[in-house]
Amino acid sequence: MLYRQRKLDLPHGELDTPVLFPVRNVGKRSSDNTPKYVGTIPEFSAAMINARSIRNRDPMWNRLTNGVTLREEMDVPEETIIFADSGGFDFSEQEIDTTPKKTIKTQRKLDSDIHGTIDIPLSRENRAAENQRRIDRSIEFALEASDLHTGDALLFASVHGYDPETIRNNIQYLENHGDFDGYALGSMVPIRTDYKKVTKLVLAARNATEKHLHVYGLGGLVYQPLLLYLGVDSFDSSAFIRSAGNRNYLIPGFGGEELHNIEDLDRLPCPCPICGQRSLEDIREDRTALTQHNLWALATELRRFKYIAESDRDVENYLDLRFQGNEVTKRAYETAKQQVRRLT
Ligand SMILES: [Zn+2]
Repeated sequence: MLYRQRKLDLPHGELDTPVLFPVRNVGKRSSDNTPKYVGTIPEFSAAMINARSIRNRDPMWNRLTNGVTLREEMDVPEETIIFADSGGFDFSEQEIDTTPKKTIKTQRKLDSDIHGTIDIPLSRENRAAENQRRIDRSIEFALEASDLHTGDALLFASVHGYDPETIRNNIQYLENHGDFDGYALGSMVPIRTDYKKVTKLVLAARNATEKHLHVYGLGGLVYQPLLLYLGVDSFDSSAFIRSAGNRNYLIPGFGGEELHNIEDLDRLPCPCPICGQRSLEDIREDRTALTQHNLWALATELRRFKYIAESDRDVENYLDLRFQGNEVTKRAYETAKQQVRRLT
């Protein structure tokens, strides 16, 4: 098993890993629709934000340049840990409208604890030559950011690749030519249903570096235990918001359930502070409550894994059970297990 626990020493405090960064929509819409969670779910005193969206929202950016802190803007305590990505995911559709200099300046202004370098996601439809160009561009951007980076915040280089070898080579190249505190693997979201491929790519990254490894965009209920097993240190997810929008209720150990499938139940199968006292009917009507519950579900999944690893239980037995209910994810886990066993 490659699961590992570490501690990051960051400008706004220490952060125990593995950890999930809940994605905050701040800047993406006129108002951030993420309900309050910092201070209510202890292990989630962290957030992933999109530096580019915040920079591009004039009223917000004006407030930030006039002395309001990002954490005040988000209505969270000043010790909240912030990972600011470049907003590269938007570049799968749009032209790149930023530079490493502009991005890092924004990240500094936001006082983020972790800066992600500009990444240009690969697309499944794009031809190999175009994707190679995108990979090379992300590497140049990362090296430029490395040259510009100063201060206490950590710098994670964003890495892409369609095969394990490319990912390994890219990380080694960045390791030799730049100065990074960790790596963040991108372009996984479009291929997320291809579990076998994703686990291979994640393992390639894990083996290429001892440093911190983040995976962008795959922190949902099913991927979380897989990524922990593969030794990933952090991940981020907006699944709790998106699912709530679809009236999808996340159940730790299982996955998502559409509430209309179980509407005859009086009580939901979760004792979290949101669901414990309230009826299903009540939660269904309250999108904020549903979003908060979904975040508790992600926290519970993470806590369970940590418990299994800490107690003398067998993690692989737990994961056999965890994934037995779904043929696709079961096969994905079986493949991951074989790959990990070959390594350990
Ligand atoms: Zn709940």
